[in-house]
Parts: sequence; structure tokens; C-alpha cells
Amino acid sequence: MMRSVRSYWALAAALILVVLAVSACAPVPPAAPSGGASGGSEAVSTELNVLCTPQVQWCEGMKSEFEKANPDITVNFVRMSSGESLTRLRNEKDNPQFDIWWGGPVDSFIAATQEGLLEAYDSPNMKNLKDQKLYKDPDNFWAGVYVGSLGFGTNQTWLDENPGVQPPRSWDDLLKPEFKGQIMVAHPSSSGTSYTALCTILQIKGEEEGWKFIQEYAGQVLQFTKSGAAPAKFVGQGEAAVGIVFSHDIVAEIEKGSPLVLTFPEEGTGYEIGGMGIIKGAKHLDAAKKWFDWALEPTTQELGPKYESYQAPTVEGATPSRPELLEVNLIDYDFDFCGSNKSAIVDKFTNEIAAADDLKE
Ligand code: PLP
Repeated sequence: MMRSVRSYWALAAALILVVLAVSACAPVPPAAPSGGASGGSEAVSTELNVLCTPQVQWCEGMKSEFEKANPDITVNFVRMSSGESLTRLRNEKDNPQFDIWWGGPVDSFIAATQEGLLEAYDSPNMKNLKDQKLYKDPDNFWAGVYVGSLGFGTNQTWLDENPGVQPPRSWDDLLKPEFKGQIMVAHPSSSGTSYTALCTILQIKGEEEGWKFIQEYAGQVLQFTKSGAAPAKFVGQGEAAVGIVFSHDIVAEIEKGSPLVLTFPEEGTGYEIGGMGIIKGAKHLDAAKKWFDWALEPTTQELGPKYESYQAPTVEGATPSRPELLEVNLIDYDFDFCGSNKSAIVDKFTNEIAAADDLKE
């Protein structure tokens, strides 16, 4: 009896030793992707979901360049205009599907910050930004990744067919009778480009005069588009005479062979800082931070022209491809005013000036 009890304990002890040895050698299971705000030991994500607002060629280019630099991460992106992106983030607030939002004027990033949709991130590469006050949120909710000015693109063939007509060189020129039904611009509810134009006019003319002007200017528009850059393409194809678009998008169309003439409003034009921010509750926070850091590297910011994008970089050490686009009369665009009042200004435009139904592309 004694003997069998002893051998029972010997057997049990041997089994415990085997279990301990096996568990010590077993691989550590991969940690779940981090969804928290920050801190703690962060997991290693193999996926990144990017909400991408610039033109789709650049989004595709950034995806493949990031994947080349980070072979363990697969990037999924959806291209959406600024206003649509903001609506999507609001709707997904309790279960965010995107990890990072890259591109589109910062007015929308300021609105998103105020609505608690973004996560602050003090990237070590924030130090690369050329202007520490203008190109980043003071609490690190967003950073600027490019800069671009608004311009007018006029179809040269249409000008040739209308001798004596000059391309617009002032906001007031847009109200000339020859441009009635000949102007294309995006709708500010969907497009950050169009919202930049709207807020520029309000700043140049003051709110009261500005809204009167906007009423008249909307009466000159042939059709509003969904995407900010689309009017450059349609005007290039001869669907209308003049497009109000970011100047780099007009350059991109000219590069493709479109017969467009680029002019600027001489009394002053608005400009954008293209933003980037991590989504609050991002499920792949570690990968989002990698993208954020990478997007603030000079080599990354010099990739634009490879993908038909001519915005100016925001970081030291990156050379602008088209410096002349910012060497124009730029207004002192008030990003805080335009960001904080975005919903109210867009609602006023949609309800009192032009509804957002029936938008082209
Ligand atoms: N595409 C390009 C090339 C841009 O520079 C910008 C502005 O940031 C956008 C798109 C913004 O798009 P949307 O006006 O459709 O919001």
C-alpha cells in the first residue's frame, strides 16, 4: 500500500515537471491588436485601415510605398472626400473601422478633434514640421502633411471659341455674364476643396457680403460635384469653362494633357493644409503610429509627384515639386474659424443656397 502511494506521488511530480517544461517552451501567442489609447505594451498589427482623402492614385501609391517599407503590414484604404469622411467617422464613433485618416484640408480635422473623433499622438517626427504652430494641432490631434493653394482652371479651347473673354483673375470675375452656367466646383458638404473656397470668400468679403456673393456665385454654377478635384477633369473635357479647384489638381490635369489655363484670384486666394490624424479607438494603433511617423519623413513627402500629386511638403528636407503654386497672394486663412464653424457654414450653404442632391461624381 505504502509503496503504491509513493509511486503515485512520484508519477504526479513527473507529470507536473513535464507540463512546466512544455509550457516554458511553447511560443507566446500573438497579442490582440491594440485598440487602446496609448501606453502599456503595444501589440504588433499586421493590418492598417486608412481613410484616404487625396486623389486615388496617391492613395494607391502611399499604400504600396508603406507596404514596401513595412512588409509585415497590409494597408486597406477607402478614398473618400473630406465631408463624407467626417460623416463616416461620426457614424462609426462607437466602433471605428479606420485607424488613420490621411489627407484633405485640416478644417475637417479641426472639426473632428472638437467632436472627439481623433486620438492625440505626439510623433517623434512632429519635429520635422517646418511650422510648429501652423502645421500641427497644439495638442497633437492632427499634423499637416501637405499644403496647396486654390486656383481657377479655364478651358483654353473654350477661350479660343470666345474671343475677348479672359480667364478669371479675381473672385468677382466669376460673376461675369460670360461665366453664367460655365462654372464647376464641388459641393462643400462633401468636399474639403469646395469648403476651403467657401470659407476663403467669407474671410475676404466678410460674412454679410460674403454670403451675398456666394448666393450669386452659386447661380453661375453649372453643376456641383462630389469630389473637389473632379471639376478640373470635367473642365478639361470641355463640360464647363471654369473650375474652382486646388491649383495642384489643375497642374495634374495639365500634365495629363488637358487644355487648362491656371490663374489665381489676385486679391488673395485660400489655401489648405492637408491633415492627418489617428482615429480614436483605432484597432491597429501601433500600425497607425507607424504610418503617422512615416508620413512626416521628407522622403515620404517627396513621393507625391510620382503619383501625380503636386502639393507642397510640410517637413524640412523635402523639396516642393511646384513651389510657384504657393508663391501667389495667399490670404491669412483662419483654420480655427473655418474648422470650428464647418458644420454651421456647410448647413447654411446646403439649406439656403444649394442642396446637396444630384451631385456629379
Ligand atoms: N484631392 C487632392 C489632390 C487634394 O489636394 C485634396 C485636398 O486636400 C482633396 C482631394 C480633397 O478632396 P475633397 O475636396 O474631395 O474633399
